[in-house]
Amino acid sequence: MPSKIETINPYNGNRIKNYQEFTKSKLEACLELSENTFETWKQTDIKERTTLLKTLSKNLLKNKQKFAELMTEEMGKPISQSLAEIEKCSFLVDFYAKNADDFLADELIETDAEESFISFDPLGCILGIMPWNYPFWQVLRFAIPTVTAGNTILLKHASNVTGCALAIQEIFEESGFPKGCFQTLIADHEQIDQLIADSRIKAISLTGSEKAGRHIAETAGKHLKKTVLELGGNNACIVLADADLDAHLDTMVHARMQNTGQSCIAAKRFIVVEDIYGEFLEKFKAKVKKLNIGDPADKNTELSVLAREDLAKTLKKQVDTSIGQGAKVITGNKTDKAYFEPTILTNVKPGMPVFDEETFGPVAAIIKVKTKEDAYKMASHSKFGLGTMVFTQNIEDARKQIIEIADGAFFINELVKSDPRLPFGGTKASGFGRELSKEGIHEFVNRKTVFIN
Ligand code: NAP
Repeated sequence: MPSKIETINPYNGNRIKNYQEFTKSKLEACLELSENTFETWKQTDIKERTTLLKTLSKNLLKNKQKFAELMTEEMGKPISQSLAEIEKCSFLVDFYAKNADDFLADELIETDAEESFISFDPLGCILGIMPWNYPFWQVLRFAIPTVTAGNTILLKHASNVTGCALAIQEIFEESGFPKGCFQTLIADHEQIDQLIADSRIKAISLTGSEKAGRHIAETAGKHLKKTVLELGGNNACIVLADADLDAHLDTMVHARMQNTGQSCIAAKRFIVVEDIYGEFLEKFKAKVKKLNIGDPADKNTELSVLAREDLAKTLKKQVDTSIGQGAKVITGNKTDKAYFEPTILTNVKPGMPVFDEETFGPVAAIIKVKTKEDAYKMASHSKFGLGTMVFTQNIEDARKQIIEIADGAFFINELVKSDPRLPFGGTKASGFGRELSKEGIHEFVNRKTVFIN
């Protein structure tokens, strides 16, 4: 008997809606439709696909308010940030509408053949497993290049944003994509394991926690399926003695507090050299204290509740354990149901949960170091590898670090952020594979060698 999913507004605790998980036969029908649609979809001209993208982009903007309100209701994102998320999705869709044709064109390579080239062919039905923190962005970041390459998609979204998941399917259909190009499944973890085992699923893209990544990679590996894994992060934000604090402090605060701290690429560990430490801490604290906290539906709110009450409990445990190990609270650390007060901790050291683990909420862990060399060394002391940022006026010196940073991204005087034009992805326990840009559209294609004589 399929179980029920209940979505809850984390700000007021009200039930939003109940959904029924799909039965085995309903899942089977989705798989069959996905496979059948693939046979015709892969034959459509790329121009036809990119025309549909243009309609989709317009429809996103047309429904911006409605979609933003849905996200805010389901996971508590401040409404101004929900609206910005839809705008960013539209920018992403426009990017692939403009460039997919080029990205997927045959790549000629001169050999002793009359003609030889790489053909970028779709694989078939791709399963996307996505998180709740950017309910529209995460899904579209995976789905737009993947479907434009000629694949079909089955989405398993995080259960607390099921309303968003269904709205995304609707917008694909309303924009004229054939039924079956994009389908949302309401399924539990066991059903997902069974789907991964099914020969009609050709590959899997997961964005989520390290724990989910290890499980999905293991199941996919058993069935020899390709995966792209976009997992957790513990990004360091290095503040060197010559950092221009007045120019960049807003960016640093935003790097930690955006999306109420629930971002994989957020700055989680601030590694600050001692010459600038006092000034940094005072100014950082003053800005954090000024954040406008409140109802996520209010357009002036900058920070609100976490997406679920259990997430606040997990974060509290990480913070309290770290305090027990010697971390000091500068501000914050009060909780109330799904709310977690913006928190600054100093005296943070390796071995504490707030240093070693991903903290998914508004908690800034501050680590004081003596020198620039210590700072880079401390930054790399992490099992995760999404990105590192450094604030310094000596760009030439920072450039020398590029080769030393083992992460998927290195941002100088900017927060680590995603941009459709640039590849995005991690190393180590943050996963593998790349999304966005040309790299992203080439993840779920068969790079076929064609040789003609
Ligand atoms: P999560 O608990 O790992 O869930 C992610 C998705 O995986 C959800 O749809 C979840 O479904 C599903 N899932 C989890 N375990 C599964 C299993 N054993 N079998 C099948 N499906 C499974 O992560 P989250 O709390 O939603 O999201 C936060 C995490 O995502 C953070 O670690 C964050 O850093 C990471 N993230 C990474 C990126 C990136 O680009 N690297 C971007 C955004 C977020 P249910 O909801 O049904 O459990």
